[in-house]
Amino acid sequence: MRRPRPVPVSWLVGLITVVLLAGCADTSPAPDVDDARLIAADSDDENWLTYGRTYKEQRHSPLTEVSEETVGRLGLAWYYDMGTKRGLEGTPLVVEGVLYVTGAWSVMHAFDAATGERLWTHDPQVPRGHSRFVCCDVVNRGQAFYRGQVYAGTLDGRLVSVTAEGGDLVWESQTTPVGEAYSITGAPRIAGGKVLIGSGGAEYGVRGYVSAYDAATGELSWRVYTVPGNPADGFESDAMAAAAETWSGEWWEAGGGGTAWDAIVYDPELDLVYIGVGNGSPWYRQLRSPGGGDNLYLSSILAVRASDGEYVWHFQTTPGDNWDYTATQPLMLAELEIDGRERRVIMQAPKNGFFYVIDRETGEFLSGEAFADINWATGLTPEGRPIENPDARALEGGVHVAPGPTGAHNWHPMSFNPETGLVYFPVQEHSWLHVVDDEWEYDRRVLNIAGDFAYTGPTTGEAWTPRGHLVAWDPVTQSEAWRVEQPHPLSGGTLSTAGNLVFQGRPDGVFRAYRATDGEVLWEFQHETGILAAPITYSVDGTQYVAVLSGYGGPEVLFNLPGLAGGSVGPGRLLVFALGENASLPEPMPPLPPIEAPTFELAATEAEVEQGSLLYLNTCLGCHGFAAVSGGIVPDLRRSTAETHAIFEQIVLGGAREPLGMPRFDDVLDSEDVRLIQAYVLRRALESAGGN
Ligand code: CA
Repeated sequence: MRRPRPVPVSWLVGLITVVLLAGCADTSPAPDVDDARLIAADSDDENWLTYGRTYKEQRHSPLTEVSEETVGRLGLAWYYDMGTKRGLEGTPLVVEGVLYVTGAWSVMHAFDAATGERLWTHDPQVPRGHSRFVCCDVVNRGQAFYRGQVYAGTLDGRLVSVTAEGGDLVWESQTTPVGEAYSITGAPRIAGGKVLIGSGGAEYGVRGYVSAYDAATGELSWRVYTVPGNPADGFESDAMAAAAETWSGEWWEAGGGGTAWDAIVYDPELDLVYIGVGNGSPWYRQLRSPGGGDNLYLSSILAVRASDGEYVWHFQTTPGDNWDYTATQPLMLAELEIDGRERRVIMQAPKNGFFYVIDRETGEFLSGEAFADINWATGLTPEGRPIENPDARALEGGVHVAPGPTGAHNWHPMSFNPETGLVYFPVQEHSWLHVVDDEWEYDRRVLNIAGDFAYTGPTTGEAWTPRGHLVAWDPVTQSEAWRVEQPHPLSGGTLSTAGNLVFQGRPDGVFRAYRATDGEVLWEFQHETGILAAPITYSVDGTQYVAVLSGYGGPEVLFNLPGLAGGSVGPGRLLVFALGENASLPEPMPPLPPIEAPTFELAATEAEVEQGSLLYLNTCLGCHGFAAVSGGIVPDLRRSTAETHAIFEQIVLGGAREPLGMPRFDDVLDSEDVRLIQAYVLRRALESAGGN
């Protein structure tokens, strides 16, 4: 039997400011986070003021108390149980001794950063049924802090502002059409008094855009689309008209995709905002744009002016994307000496497996090299355009294409140490069986990937065994300096420190410090729940802390990872470390008992079980996992009790478990469909009895 593959599922004024701040470094800190402080964030070693620590998003801290010499004495200082292991991908912020972090369902928390005392929680009350329109769980990756307010996006498309002091709502704006399949999982960014926010949803069939809101009032300042709409409605800009020349057919019907669900980076020197743009909707160009074309600005880095959102330049990493190769992955700004000349660059390691160094003023391609084993392209042209493998686009029958849609690198933040000159990030090597569903028709209520997940016919090539490693990449020479093989295909985001350290977690709960220069393991902590979020570091009263969230989100939920697949795992926690500390954690949760044969009876024929499996593939798989083996976050359906089975229809159609996050599907399924799915789930339980 074919083993199913995992599914998919941010100059002058600044210069003066830096000088001014440097001049008053011995006096008490400025009372609040304003533009000047954000621009000078790099020299503010105590705090972690923005998602990527600074506007360059290098995630490199100058702190050195924890160093390659002392890290062996690092221990747990405090922890906080997040109440769930779901949706935990957030990067905390730290401002003047208060740590702010988001959790599942976009809930915002504030803690005393030294003691762990919880100061406040703001729950935006996300309607649980909206989880139906997220590919990769109910995650939130972070917040923005500005002038005494904390900003976060909510899963259901709102941008909320609360007071830093008490978590009290200041304003909220609905950034997406209510009831449509948009979601927000990425962190907002601050740019000159505006709050920037994008959204996800390309897999469901929406049109991507990024919005800028006035930070004080929540009024929309500008909005820039990433793909063209229906020409009959007129284009919003010349950039949209130009983009439309690269599309064909009636692409707008399914939205076109191109959602900007993660990387949005602001460059105050150039007054530019760089947007990482996602994949097309549907995935396959032949269905989306039958006449071919590059389909701008899918899978591109899009640079727009921060003041008004006007197009400045773009660089497309994957022209005419066909494989969910988003360019939403983390974007990082740096100054690099290339060919004897200092260049202001933007760097990215997007899903498609190539590491790009781009001139961030002009969009000129400077260099690019594959950082992973891939088979969809054999290299890049001197202009940075991929040299495709024709098999990967022909998609005749089924074709194993590497990397798969979760990408050679995904959302996991990368870090850059200016001393070593290396970029640290997790690499995933795997393939995906792409099969075009020729019968696909756009349906706004469901996933619109247009892949045939049930395909069992002939294939080109073979599936790759998924594997992963942590890589230290030299962006100047475009080569790997070192790597550490990992036991799992996925591993976490990274933190770099001036202590010559790189911190990173793994899905099996291992949290490590590596020597930045050579990758040697210098320290390790074992937690019972996986760690994939990016760590941060900060200091309070002269003590350096390292903080990281443990827990899961997407797409690890879909990888059926060892120790995670099919079984519940320990609690999601905020873990905070400091030298010489030794706080203790509760006893780990015991492993789940083996699956029992179901006692609930439901008469169904073999043909009906097979029909149920197809319905499951199209409706349930995204959350509950391949073959009804849960990724460990949402319930494993094979463990459903007779009581649960007795109300199966009320759960699926009636919303009986909606308060717990199970959406209702009464607009796409009927009673008979539910019976068939239930028959399939019962069969899978029977097949799994005695195991996990
Ligand atoms: Ca995608």
